[in-house]
Amino acid sequence: MRTDSLFKEKTVFSYEIFPPKRTAPIETIYHTLERLKGQQPDFISVTLGAGGTGDNLSTADIAQKIQEEQFLPSVAHLPAVNFSKEEICTILQELKQKKVENILALRGDILTDKEPKKDFLYANDLVAFIHEQGEFNIIGACYPETHGDAVNSVVDIKNLKRKVDAGTNQLITQLFFDNNYFYTFKEKCDIVDIRVPIQAGIMPVVNKKQIERIVKMSNVNLPSKFLKMMERYEHNPEAIRDAGIAYAINQIVDLVAQGVSGIHLYTMNNPYVAQKIREATRSLFEA
Ligand code: FAD
Repeated sequence: MRTDSLFKEKTVFSYEIFPPKRTAPIETIYHTLERLKGQQPDFISVTLGAGGTGDNLSTADIAQKIQEEQFLPSVAHLPAVNFSKEEICTILQELKQKKVENILALRGDILTDKEPKKDFLYANDLVAFIHEQGEFNIIGACYPETHGDAVNSVVDIKNLKRKVDAGTNQLITQLFFDNNYFYTFKEKCDIVDIRVPIQAGIMPVVNKKQIERIVKMSNVNLPSKFLKMMERYEHNPEAIRDAGIAYAINQIVDLVAQGVSGIHLYTMNNPYVAQKIREATRSLFEA
């Protein structure tokens, strides 16, 4: 099932999971999925490492399993910068065979130790290529606080418009901890006539190490109330987890009340946390 049609009916709630590292057995993710079962998200997306052919070759398998065993639509992430056109064709073929029809089409991060391949320099190149084939629903990434490589937010939003015009049907944002960034970003999208549904990416932060990694990897500001919370509870794992869950719930309540098209929860493969958030907010999505 195509995920873009869901937005016509409701405020969408989805999960993101990642495949286990090569050193961990594939069964660990199936155990996670089993525990997510019953929480009834509208779809589940599965990441793929930017290293491509390195760690996470099981993205397509996991996406297939979600559809066949959980009867939920799945989305396969596809960062293209380290793939050639031929390799992308092979992946698309595999996804088609596995009946995975939703793709999050990404450029991927430029790795310091790997020369990018030249076929897909930006996500809009990949979107156009997939769109030509006419068989997939294409989703794109976007950045309320501006992508880290962009010269400024105006250039970034124009590039986003290019990606949407190339055939993107829905967008999912980078995580953020201050909803005002999302609202300002949404206004800019309206100005440049980006009309596709935009899901807000929410990540519940449940330990200090996680937040340090996020700040290093992404162009995301931490509001002072969030920093105070982390400082206060950093030595108490249970309290910091509960505070992180409560913070995410607050963000979601505000976003849904303001009419967001959907929420995409970065679960970090943590079914306990996902369940707590789902339970606390489920009725908002049904109202
Ligand atoms: P693009 O849309 O290509 O943008 C990248 C930069 O290039 C931006 O600064 C943009 O302004 C600029 N740009 C875009 N088009 C042009 C153009 N035509 N000319 C000049 N400049 C241009 N990474 C993974 O490796 N695996 C994943 O599974 C994954 N999942 C993600 C899921 C979500 C929801 C998000 C938000 C990100 C995800 N990422 C993932 C990270 C993503 O790959 C990186 O943020 C990457 O650096 C940018 O990818 P993009 O598709 O947004 O790139």
